[in-house]
Amino acid sequence: MKHGFDVVVVGGGHAGAEAADAAARCGARTLLVTQDLGRSGEMSCNPAIGGLGKGHLVREIDALDGIMARAADAAGIQFRLLNRRKGPAVQGPRAQCDRRLYRQAVQNALHRRRGLRLLGGEVVDLLMAGEAVVGVVLADGTEIEASAVVLTTGTFLRGVIHVGERSIEGGRMGDPSAVRLACRIDDFGLPLGRLKTGTPPRLDGRTIDWSRVERQLGDPDPTLFSFLSETVTAPQVECGITRTTERTHDVIRKNLGRSAMYGGRIDGVGPRYCPSIEDKIVRFADKTSHQIFLEPEGVDDPTVYPNGISTSLPEDVQNDLLTSIPGLERARILQPGYAIEYDYVDPRALRRSLAVQSVDGLFLAGQINGTTGYEEAAAQGLLAGLNAARTAAGLHEASFDRAESYLGVMIDDLTSRGVAEPYRMFTSRAEFRLTLRADNADARLTDRGLALGLVGEARRRVWAQKREAIEEAKAIAKDSAASPSILARHGIHVSLDGVPRSAYDLMASPDVELDRLIGIWPALGTLSGASVHQLLIEARYARYADRQAQDVERLRKEEAISLARDLDYDAVPGLSAELREKLSVARPETLAQAERIEGMTPAALTLLLIEARRSERRRV
Ligand code: FAD
Repeated sequence: MKHGFDVVVVGGGHAGAEAADAAARCGARTLLVTQDLGRSGEMSCNPAIGGLGKGHLVREIDALDGIMARAADAAGIQFRLLNRRKGPAVQGPRAQCDRRLYRQAVQNALHRRRGLRLLGGEVVDLLMAGEAVVGVVLADGTEIEASAVVLTTGTFLRGVIHVGERSIEGGRMGDPSAVRLACRIDDFGLPLGRLKTGTPPRLDGRTIDWSRVERQLGDPDPTLFSFLSETVTAPQVECGITRTTERTHDVIRKNLGRSAMYGGRIDGVGPRYCPSIEDKIVRFADKTSHQIFLEPEGVDDPTVYPNGISTSLPEDVQNDLLTSIPGLERARILQPGYAIEYDYVDPRALRRSLAVQSVDGLFLAGQINGTTGYEEAAAQGLLAGLNAARTAAGLHEASFDRAESYLGVMIDDLTSRGVAEPYRMFTSRAEFRLTLRADNADARLTDRGLALGLVGEARRRVWAQKREAIEEAKAIAKDSAASPSILARHGIHVSLDGVPRSAYDLMASPDVELDRLIGIWPALGTLSGASVHQLLIEARYARYADRQAQDVERLRKEEAISLARDLDYDAVPGLSAELREKLSVARPETLAQAERIEGMTPAALTLLLIEARRSERRRV
């Protein structure tokens, strides 16, 4: 039997949900096919959304009217703004989520979306017409035609799960892997690689001795993700913090040979910045303790996620090591930790629209492209869904660039540099990060989303009101200026150069109190708290934004500068351990070569530039 759709999305994880929703928002007749509809929106690993860099992506998805931010707000049981003490550019909203509520919120959004049909089933093959994909084939033989297909199969392509010496085929614990589909992808001759990731054992919270662990509260004034959300709805919980002990490390060291990671049974490359506990013990041998966050998985669910002890040791060793951790001595394992190995497609085979270069009608998004994390997957899903819908409608493909969004940064990184290890977002990946802030994602992207047909009426209205309020606030703040002597009379001391300053100029300095400004310009006192808050951030970053643009331009011109072959990267202050190691191995001859090393950041390039200049001065 054949059915026809504009877009078929394969996989109902984070990429798939956003892809299907985005395609349908753009008016495409869309079908989402996933192995188990009841697991759509499932968080395979930690029950949390956001964080540094990732929180920015969530806000961008929201600015383009995607699902993730609203689902996280509906399911959030503990909200924390990371880097609160640093500037707004690098602050990351994060929420601990109730796993069930999150899934429910995603599924509700999908069910409500007009033009989107949902189907439980396994896609085993793609329908082809010459070199082009024109649909999918289900396991029961059903053929479904489509103008464009988006594959978002996560870790399911030839997924193999490892618990100690035991290995089983699977895309995630409890789900089968997608082997037949992987064979079809082989036929395309796309460059494939093998990656791995891991997850910790899940614990029964009722068997944890909470009196022996430190308590961690959420923020008293929760920072929500969505520009449309107004308040927290789920009950809020406390998390716990405990630590590994020297005995934990002994247990792990003694059993390293039984770990799937260290017993030689896994070939794939894993995420360094999210290492297993085995990795941490080996790589940081001098450390006698590592922190573990005990994160409840839900308000009505006793399951606790011990963030920090992802492992592929056998279950008996996992039990043993828990007895050595304060508070977890009697903790019962509900599901053992495991590692998973899977195929990914080298994203350099994709265009910036996430279309496969060599196969018409096929788009890839999410972990299949070598990324890790829900947020990275969701952002790619949104872009691929948008472009699948545009392709079906005969429109040109759309893309986002590095200067406007973290989404653009990620896609450019993936498609131009590829990945050598699972890619995750960090603020340091964005050279324009002072302007790409989480607070202004709507200002950067919502108009673009409207033009692309991605953004609906409710958001258009909210954004129009907000923009108007900010413009009004800015006009008031820039309207008139006061001389240094008038400012001094109101307790604001600037250099006595006779140059009048506006409220907007003065807002750039964090030391100037708003009340004093209102004393001089009472109209400021009539503005809403939200618009003043936004204005303060904008004013603070205005001059950096100009300076940043020049810095980036200058940096690019100097990319060809030579780096000494004997440069001691361990002695370059500010470089991360990861980059030090990679640079020491690769020994790039020029700054341009260094830039192409996976994981290189604009901030690190600046450090290398300074180092290059220093050694040049020494030579002269
Ligand atoms: P997924 O969320 O995996 O969704 C894929 C979907 O496709 C599933 O619904 C599946 O049923 C469906 N599917 C697959 N094949 C087919 C088919 N042939 N037909 C129909 N449907 C199909 N991220 C982190 O940031 N930090 C971590 O520490 C971390 N650890 C992880 C540990 C494990 C064990 C796993 C499995 C994942 C981990 N992740 C981690 C990654 C995070 O879960 C993923 O990055 C994210 O879920 C990827 O989203 P996705 O939409 O690409 O894929």
